[in-house]
Amino acid sequence: MSGLVAELESLAPTMAPDAVLTDPDRMAGYRWDRANDPTAGTPVAVVRVSSTEDVQAVVRLAARHRVPIVTRGAGTSLSGGSTAADGCVVISTERMRRIEVDPLTRTCRTEPGLFNAEVKAAAAAHGLWYPPDPSSFEICSIGGNIATNAGGLCCVKYGVTTDYVLGMTVVLADGTVVELGGPRIKDVAGLSLTKLFVGSEGTLGIVTEVVLRLLPAQRPPSTLVATFGSLTDATGAVCEMTRTMRPSMLEFMDQASINAVEDMTRMGLDRSAAALLVIQSDEPAEFALAELEAISEICSRYRASEVFHTDDPQEGEAFVAARRAAIPALERRGSLLLEDVGVPIPQLSDLVDGIAAISANRGVDIAVVAHAGDGNTHPLIVFDPSDTEQVERAQAAYGEVMELAIGLGGTITGEHGVGRLKKAWLPDQLGEEAMELNRRIKQALDPDGILNPGVIF
Ligand SMILES: Cc1cc2nc3c(=O)[nH]c(=O)nc-3n(C[C@H](O)[C@H](O)[C@H](O)COP(=O)(O)OP(=O)(O)OC[C@H]3O[C@@H](n4cnc5c(N)ncnc54)[C@H](O)[C@@H]3O)c2cc1C
Repeated sequence: MSGLVAELESLAPTMAPDAVLTDPDRMAGYRWDRANDPTAGTPVAVVRVSSTEDVQAVVRLAARHRVPIVTRGAGTSLSGGSTAADGCVVISTERMRRIEVDPLTRTCRTEPGLFNAEVKAAAAAHGLWYPPDPSSFEICSIGGNIATNAGGLCCVKYGVTTDYVLGMTVVLADGTVVELGGPRIKDVAGLSLTKLFVGSEGTLGIVTEVVLRLLPAQRPPSTLVATFGSLTDATGAVCEMTRTMRPSMLEFMDQASINAVEDMTRMGLDRSAAALLVIQSDEPAEFALAELEAISEICSRYRASEVFHTDDPQEGEAFVAARRAAIPALERRGSLLLEDVGVPIPQLSDLVDGIAAISANRGVDIAVVAHAGDGNTHPLIVFDPSDTEQVERAQAAYGEVMELAIGLGGTITGEHGVGRLKKAWLPDQLGEEAMELNRRIKQALDPDGILNPGVIF
């Protein structure tokens, strides 16, 4: 191992200053991600790469020494995907920050270290828009988004990360550099390898550059906020809306998350509501009005206690910000086990009711926020980490929520990835044949299992 560290340090002169870190204090910030896994390991080195060539050089060394590599973007993974493994080399992409926007092809070519918000801003400077918008868009990297196939709030109308990835440069486990796709809207030459790497969570290769499709700038949205006295009414209204309409946002908060956000923001949310929906339309003004009137009528039919509508984008953004604030607001109440289960929309009501039943049976608080229009919920299990018995009940509930989703024909993860925390449930969802196919692909691309071991597989 010390041989590897010496060889990594010998690479340092070919890299930007201070690229290789081996001091435990300076490496500490690279051990954990936002899943806060207490079993996080200690790396032997962190390399802050600046180019594809840097990545290739580090991978070749690690491959020769058969040392694990954990690729890290901004470390906001909620499933433990960027948690360090013991004795690994962490490749941090934080310094890979070049971006070029090409308005002619309506694409951008970007390195992985930029934050999602920075990619959006670069596109906006040309009157263009990169839609995928995880709630963490100001703190997560675009490389992490590619590697987890991140979703977000506007995905109900505009799709998820993979729908915008046209090409990439990827460094394989043996150091080979592969160029896939490019700034072409249509391209079916060969297998869909670009798509294979999207969502592969750093287990098949390291993405060092990516070509993203951009759209014309979004029209300023109109916003409707509705509160409900029962969860069933709120989820019933969601099912009714998605049958015939495509709002540009359809988000859900339950009472526990409304109250946590209200505690933090004091913005005047109705603490007594069982559920709140935040819905947007970005159609041209007259169509937006018609769409939101139809949605308002559905909310009333499902006994909404209050329906509020604004075409002032800033006023609307305050409610969207409230929804985005749910995770940090609940983190103030204790430690979180964060779920990401999704179901076909007609099963949304059964999922939300089932989660409430698990919360009652296990005696643990579970707040729910959801990208409701996608059937993708985030049950947030809140617990006191110093109470061993409560930790056990929270962990039991964590498994039961995933089993519930699988039983309803759903998924254990809609957007955060399997990471380390959910892999025990993956075979139950995929079945043995699909699981084996996953293993064969991993084996073909990373026969020594050095890329993010312990994640997914
Ligand atoms: C408050 C909060 C809200 C969130 N909301 C959302 C949301 O709405 N939607 C959503 O999808 N997620 C959400 N997330 C989760 C998280 O932000 C996403 O999973 C994000 O895509 C991770 O990006 P990152 O740069 O932090 O990646 P990291 O945590 O650094 O890494 C995530 C995974 O990607 C791999 N990886 C990173 N970069 C590369 C690369 N260049 N090549 C290969 N593999 C790589 C890592 O090895 C790891 O497996 C939220 C997180 C927080 C804290």
